[in-house]
Amino acid sequence: MLLGYLYKLRPNQEQSAKIDSWLDLLRSTYNWSLADRINSYHQSFIQGEYCDLRSKAVASPLTCCIVKGGATGEPWKDNGKKRSVCEMQMTSLPELKKARPWYKEIDSTVLQQNLKRLEVAYKNFFSSNRKFPKFKNCSTFRSFTYTVGVKLKGNKIYLPKLGWIKYYNSRPLPDGFKIKSVTVRKKSDGYYVSIRIEDVSVPSFPIKPVEEIKTVIGLDMGLGKLIYCSDNSAINNPKFATNPKTKRLQRIIQRRVSRKKKRSNNRKKAQKKLSLFQHKIAQKREAYQWQAAQKIVNSSDAIAVEDLKISNMVKRCKPKYDKEKGRFLKNGQSAKRALNRLILDASWYSLIQKIEYLAAKSGKIVLKVNPKHTSQECSKCHHIDSSNRKGEKFLCVRCGHVDDANFQACLNIKNKAINQYQLKIKKRTFSQKKCELIKVGRDLPEPKQLNLFQTSTSELTGGKRRKHSARNGKQNVPGNLGKQLNLFEQENNYRASDTL
Ligand SMILES: [Zn+2]
Repeated sequence: MLLGYLYKLRPNQEQSAKIDSWLDLLRSTYNWSLADRINSYHQSFIQGEYCDLRSKAVASPLTCCIVKGGATGEPWKDNGKKRSVCEMQMTSLPELKKARPWYKEIDSTVLQQNLKRLEVAYKNFFSSNRKFPKFKNCSTFRSFTYTVGVKLKGNKIYLPKLGWIKYYNSRPLPDGFKIKSVTVRKKSDGYYVSIRIEDVSVPSFPIKPVEEIKTVIGLDMGLGKLIYCSDNSAINNPKFATNPKTKRLQRIIQRRVSRKKKRSNNRKKAQKKLSLFQHKIAQKREAYQWQAAQKIVNSSDAIAVEDLKISNMVKRCKPKYDKEKGRFLKNGQSAKRALNRLILDASWYSLIQKIEYLAAKSGKIVLKVNPKHTSQECSKCHHIDSSNRKGEKFLCVRCGHVDDANFQACLNIKNKAINQYQLKIKKRTFSQKKCELIKVGRDLPEPKQLNLFQTSTSELTGGKRRKHSARNGKQNVPGNLGKQLNLFEQENNYRASDTL
């Protein structure tokens, strides 16, 4: 089983400067290799006596190999077999180090992994619908990967050629796992290290036999509430980036950036503040989603979700063109823009990913169903009609069944999963009326103050109790020990998320 653990690094000044310079050097090799691949691809189309379009050098059959998907480097292995493009580029790394000795500072596996990253980007382009790999700049190229030589000891991690670096050991790694790869990543608030660990003895996706599944929960992703569950509970949608307060703040900070002179130090400072602000929003969302996902995974044996294509949902509307008047008509994009932002802020895809990860960890299954007609079908008589649903209300045109539209969708998803995977569970056709809100993270009340020395103040002062205004500062008042976490209450409320 493959697991990922993320820690924050605490490099000293020398180390962080080194990481920065590595990132610069690696980025330039990445961009050079990408250009090399593109050039050698174009060479295969050149007819005539040129071997390179740009330099217009004369072609010689001995020196240049005109092959589709070629690259600089040795094309043949010792045993007579042909190298792949990535391997060909790897053979040119020693020459790179000779010509530019400062590349010797970088660990050799990091340099190789950098080229493999390009290979993965190429493979994704040809196999799935990903875009063609882009040239990177310093804001899009922020990580590098080790595969060997990394050691861990206490709160220190050994990265080859960077040395021992301290890190915040926020959670222990499980026993029996081997380190597969380690990625160092620069973010706006510092450096992070993500460790991928593997245990071959643990199967990656332990699939429960169908007979053992006793409970299934159907989930419908929404915007009013983040998740609607088929057991009539729901999870709030805090709208981390799109609530009015955050939007206003972001606008202010963004404006501060745009009013500064370009390329000035003040602009850089303002930009850093903006990126920190955005990073904080992302972190809040991540934390909330992990806790929500854990609560859902804990609730039943199997989880049924829609197989959503979110990139299609946030596509732009097609432009409408009026040929007679020669201008564009309104196509509803400005109204859709706000909806798109809400959808992207909810980030359902990463939420489903987290549910899948946690489910795999605790031996549960995620069942994916086709999202077609899940919100239009009547769960009682299975009549499908787009007029069944009116906003939040569901009213079946044929049988008159009335329900909440969102919970109706959950039930449909659950029943679809039961049919599709042939589970032996009773289906329910209507939802219980009352909606129950599952409280997660910030929805929970703040832990109460724990009085370590609990003697009632009336005993000490003889019945008289002093009144303190907040302005006086609570910490200076005797008997009031500032803000303390309630250790015992926390055990019940928060520990649930820590047991993952
Ligand atoms: Zn009906």
